[in-house]
Amino acid sequence: MDKCMSLLHRYSGVFVVTAMLTAPMTAYAANEIVVYTARNEQLIKPLFDAYTKETGTAIKFRTDKEGVLLQKLKAEGVNTPADMLITVDAGNLWQAANLGLLQPVQSKTLSDNIPAHLRDPANQWFGLSVRARTIVYNKNKVKPGELSTYEDLGNPKWKGRLCLRTSKTVYNQSLVAMMIHEYGEPKTEQIIKSWVANLATPPISDDARAMAAVAAGQCDVTVVNTYYFGRLMKKKPDLPLAIFWPNQDTKESGVHVNVSGAGITRHAKHQAEAVKFLEWLSTEKAQKLFADVDMEYPASPKVKPDALVAAWGEFKQNPLNVVKAGELQTTAVKLMDRVKYK
Ligand code: FE
Repeated sequence: MDKCMSLLHRYSGVFVVTAMLTAPMTAYAANEIVVYTARNEQLIKPLFDAYTKETGTAIKFRTDKEGVLLQKLKAEGVNTPADMLITVDAGNLWQAANLGLLQPVQSKTLSDNIPAHLRDPANQWFGLSVRARTIVYNKNKVKPGELSTYEDLGNPKWKGRLCLRTSKTVYNQSLVAMMIHEYGEPKTEQIIKSWVANLATPPISDDARAMAAVAAGQCDVTVVNTYYFGRLMKKKPDLPLAIFWPNQDTKESGVHVNVSGAGITRHAKHQAEAVKFLEWLSTEKAQKLFADVDMEYPASPKVKPDALVAAWGEFKQNPLNVVKAGELQTTAVKLMDRVKYK
């Protein structure tokens, strides 16, 4: 097999790649890493290129939807060519770990660079960038002083003024899961019920559309991930929208955050190389690249966000471990179903 591979290698790189991704028991090339990623190519490719330039290690990658990649990893089992999974939301990362698709990594570099609440307590995945799920409001209709907490969006004063993204996607499932962890189920159920009672429109398919509804005056406030606000305002800087950081009083816990992150696959063929790459992703230079390209916050507190992102102001993060977004996901989905949050 080795002879055959080296012959192939001499004639065509394409043959080698094809053999690698399809045939089990192939000798896997050294000095390369294979990544499955649910992040868009334009958000992730600059990092791969920077790493290859710096180290000479080639990175092959496959991008697809989260669910497809998890199914693929599961089906491929021990024969998977993938060494690393990169995806968004702790709920998804937890799911991968829960399916037995990842392996624990003990690394001082990672535990030094990534705060404990942004990584798996069992070290199977590590947050690499932070997205805050926060309040966005219409400046022409709301004074920031009227806003305070997530819970308060259920106050009758917001009746017919709230827009929310659907409960069917992972972001709000994770948000509600973290609220259950923080407040317990009965209180969270009350809060979500009061949100539903205040809705101005049926739940909206995505964060960008929710903000468009606020800008258009269909509602006055919504809850979205900060990078969607960044993307929208870059395109349409005149929209009357602003960010509000809720739950910032000393007695309160802070803004709900989530991560995009990565883990090493259980059956990685380039385990040591992949761990090195993962560690590199937590370093200052990579953190800056990783976060800035999508207007997110670096996971490492040592690294400053992009100036445009920093201009939204500093805020206190909720310090609860984001692993609960996964552990309590099913509980959250059932709760949202009970209060008819569609
Ligand atoms: Fe997103």
